[in-house]
Amino acid sequence: MNETSVDRDKLSRAAETIFKSTYVMALTGAGMSVESGIPPFRGPGGLWTKHGEPPMDGYQRFLADPKKSWEERLNPRGPMVELRESLRKAVPNPGHHALVDLEKMGILKALITQNVDNLHKAAGSSNVLEIHGNFTLLRCLDCNARYQNDEVPLETLPPRCPQCGGIIKSDGVAFGEPIPRDVLSGCQNETLKCDCMLVIGTSATVYPAAAFPQHLMRQGHPVIEVNLYESEITPMCRISLKGPSGVIMPELVKILREKS
Ligand SMILES: [Zn+2]
Repeated sequence: MNETSVDRDKLSRAAETIFKSTYVMALTGAGMSVESGIPPFRGPGGLWTKHGEPPMDGYQRFLADPKKSWEERLNPRGPMVELRESLRKAVPNPGHHALVDLEKMGILKALITQNVDNLHKAAGSSNVLEIHGNFTLLRCLDCNARYQNDEVPLETLPPRCPQCGGIIKSDGVAFGEPIPRDVLSGCQNETLKCDCMLVIGTSATVYPAAAFPQHLMRQGHPVIEVNLYESEITPMCRISLKGPSGVIMPELVKILREKS
């Protein structure tokens, strides 16, 4: 997509709305990952389309037999290898970098992401709430402590938390697993302060993420959508910018820089 196909009028209205707000947040989803070359889960070429959907009770299976789940995770020929490989190779795209710029400019106060790819942090965003976890991390199911993948010894499975002895699981939130309470309360606290939300690369239909823009809408605050496609929330958004986030977001930053 070239620059001329971006709707200039909508872009400047979005910039104006962001500029007038005091506590801007972003909610991001799979669309941003796809622009960094990470395959989607569903649809053509999707990981689950190729390998089959993972069990909807993944968390219950983990709890029932954590040792077996760990052995499956560590199996180099397991179905999740392709995903982990593409995650390891992925690098942030201009959309991720634009969100870092907005944070450094003092405009973006917090970022909630449904992506597990670590790309917001890799780009340099600091206040990131990873609602579905982070594939580079492990998490203690008892005390929520996070560890790097290589920080916890794996001689005995399942590994145990060095701080409290609880069972360690990958930080990525499995089907059937509750969102870790520290992340969820962080998201709720930030959303209560927020008066303008950018919803980028996600149709925001999956709960609890869907609740955050809905809260803004109920308060009469603007929600600005950036998405390749029309989504379920397009009709409810104050402004909907159609296009790749890697094109739209840097354009928004450019306009906002000129304003400030
Ligand atoms: Zn622990």
